[in-house]
Amino acid sequence: MDLSTATVIYCLFVAALFLGLWMFYDRRDHALFEHARRKSTFMCARCNHLYAASGRPDSCECPRCGHANARLRF
Ligand SMILES: [Zn+2]
Repeated sequence: MDLSTATVIYCLFVAALFLGLWMFYDRRDHALFEHARRKSTFMCARCNHLYAASGRPDSCECPRCGHANARLRF
């Protein structure tokens, strides 16, 4: 193996490494965004406390008073 072949392989390796990192962070940011977007907002009927829960549950207990509230529908 001569030096130019080694250089080409090294450059390809570095490029693949950066591509892999870029894809990893892109996917992770997308997952974070999707997770935040899927949050449901709840308004407590008993103490008027506004809170959010991840996912799309139909009801969630208030973290302040424990009252089970139905999901707000916009
Ligand atoms: Zn409450």
